[in-house]
Amino acid sequence: MKIETYKVPSTIAGAVQLLHHGEATIVAGGTDLTPQTGAGVREFAATLINIQRIEEMRGIAVSNGRYRIGGLTTVTEILESELLAAEVPVLVEAADHFASPQIRNAATLAGNLCNASPAGDMVIPLLLLDAEAELASWSDGLVVTRAVALADFFTGPGKTVMRAGELLTAIEFTRPEAGFAAVFLKSGPRPALEISTVSMGVAGVMADGVLHAARVSIGAVAPTPLRATETEAVLEGNALDGALIERAAETVSREVSPIDDVRASAWYRRHLAGVYIRRALARLQGGNHGN
Ligand SMILES: Cc1cc2nc3c(=O)[nH]c(=O)nc-3n(C[C@H](O)[C@H](O)[C@H](O)COP(=O)(O)OP(=O)(O)OC[C@H]3O[C@@H](n4cnc5c(N)ncnc54)[C@H](O)[C@@H]3O)c2cc1C
Repeated sequence: MKIETYKVPSTIAGAVQLLHHGEATIVAGGTDLTPQTGAGVREFAATLINIQRIEEMRGIAVSNGRYRIGGLTTVTEILESELLAAEVPVLVEAADHFASPQIRNAATLAGNLCNASPAGDMVIPLLLLDAEAELASWSDGLVVTRAVALADFFTGPGKTVMRAGELLTAIEFTRPEAGFAAVFLKSGPRPALEISTVSMGVAGVMADGVLHAARVSIGAVAPTPLRATETEAVLEGNALDGALIERAAETVSREVSPIDDVRASAWYRRHLAGVYIRRALARLQGGNHGN
């Protein structure tokens, strides 16, 4: 469809009122939307809403033990955040594997989540952190919000639980507990500008060689990014030795449901999931992680 109206709200209230009044396309950094509309795989609605001027949707802050990252925060801002580097470096590690500097300067966190690619990179560390998406809408003359756990947010490739009229305003998660350690790994045939063939996050708290609060998230191996809960159960509360790492590798290879596509075969993705969990757990074991 041809764009008939272009709106640039400067507040969340302004944006959700516009969304409430009819079908519209939201654009943030445009790094997914532009190639998709250009290639004809997606059409603009008659109204285009550019949300870039909504200052209240920017920034990284922590208060009362909760982190809040505005939806318009760019991948570069995450990469350069001293706060995140000190306390949640796994987010910085994922940002460091993301695209190129030019794309990172434009790409927003909300855009990465709302695009709902099974290979969205920023989703993987956020799943480890039990993050929640804040969704705002307009109802009875007011901005109303609801929080959705990221683990429940994605319903399929390009699909989420977001309803018509909703705007993803922020991501929130609890400040990680002392001793929390996390690793992010991503593969693709090229070192940069690569869509993940497999991406993985592994986290937990190591104490006396035992892994507690074990968490495993994985991308590009199923219709949505996911938490590998069977693998987490294998790891939870057990001594992280060679035998346990092998059991985790077998479990994660079984737990994923990849497809063959132009980037890799399902067999290769299953194999890589096993390789990555061995690597990630070895890093946690050796204390070789950012946290
Ligand atoms: C060359 C290139 C390399 C890339 N490399 C990577 C990579 O390494 N890893 C990776 O994960 N991705 C990569 N991407 C994909 C893309 O850059 C990211 O998904 C990015 O985070 C999207 O953010 P954006 O702000 O540009 O979103 P946009 O393109 O503006 O929007 C994406 C979608 O989200 C919707 N949307 C945006 N913001 C909101 C909001 N606040 N509320 C509701 N809906 C919203 C839009 O309507 C649209 O449907 C790459 C893209 C390109 C072109």
